Amino acid sequence: MNLRSLPDRKPFLTAALALVTLAALAAVAISAEPRAKDLFGARKLPAVAPAQSFGFYSKGCFTGGVALPMEGPGWEVMRPSRNRRWGHPAMIALIEKLARDAQADGWPGLLVGDVSQPRGGPMMTGHASHQIGLDADIWLTPMPKRPLSMAQRESMSATLMVDEKTHLVKDALWTPAHTRLLKRAASYPEVERILVNPGIKKKLCDTVTGDRSWLRKVRPFWGHDYHFHMRIGCQPGSPFCKAQETTPDDDGCGKPLAWWFTEEPWRPNKNPDAPKARDLMTMANLPKQCLDVVNAPDAPSLEAVTYHGGAAAAVAVAEPQPSEPAETISSGNAAMPSAASAFAPTPKIGIPLPRPRPGN
Ligand SMILES: [Zn+2]
Repeated sequence: MNLRSLPDRKPFLTAALALVTLAALAAVAISAEPRAKDLFGARKLPAVAPAQSFGFYSKGCFTGGVALPMEGPGWEVMRPSRNRRWGHPAMIALIEKLARDAQADGWPGLLVGDVSQPRGGPMMTGHASHQIGLDADIWLTPMPKRPLSMAQRESMSATLMVDEKTHLVKDALWTPAHTRLLKRAASYPEVERILVNPGIKKKLCDTVTGDRSWLRKVRPFWGHDYHFHMRIGCQPGSPFCKAQETTPDDDGCGKPLAWWFTEEPWRPNKNPDAPKARDLMTMANLPKQCLDVVNAPDAPSLEAVTYHGGAAAAVAVAEPQPSEPAETISSGNAAMPSAASAFAPTPKIGIPLPRPRPGN
């Protein structure tokens, strides 16, 4: 198109210039807005309030968080410097229960990975989810006999259970005790989902005999090849916690699993440098209560909010204000296609696509 041929090109140019200026201003405004991950990452202690989750697993925050002690009967916290051993008291209690039950089942003890930041919210690195205190990562490496020093917990590497090329479990590493551990975790009514690598799901599908009903909760997902991810449902007292879709009522060993063993889920990321949702989220993207949550005063001390079998004190503060729950529910993940972001609905990639993509 030749601009000279336009009789009224001046208004056109003026309008175009105005649009460019507006866009530039908007970009400045957006970049000046603090990132939610920076604000939440800076808080070292929880907000003291009754335990309550706001929003969704990949877009939210929580109050009344308690810390899992660094170690206890049957568990050790890994990567302690990350300060991600915080959760809803129901989550922390469940980790401790799993530690006891797993030992009774013959598993030496849990190496506990990330739970949440003290007030949840998006993290500086890693996970898309783990934001409302209801997600926990447990290593598939058994706890060593000798207690791990804090330095060892920072540096010890995890065992990759899955061959990166075939996406199948390394048979030399998988044991019946691994299966029992996952079965035990899935047995708890509050656990809604357990995320594992597709190779691990396939191993369970191929080998579990007898009661297979628990396989329904075990869902294949990218990553999760050295740990499994245990997710519990929204807890009582959290009216603004947004529940996830229930899992389909079968063992998930059929077509949806077969999709993971096609080429499609493993195509190289077309846009590996695209920013992830957690890098973009501002407070405006989170449920509105999260602004109060991130700004609330600290708990009086670490000890006061460390969980000791339900004895951790949570001091009541003001009643939460009602608001709409967050709407968008899909998420990003370090190892998943960039097309999936917390700001976009889950893309339909081929058939059959396991739904929903819950984030890691
Ligand atoms: Zn996780």
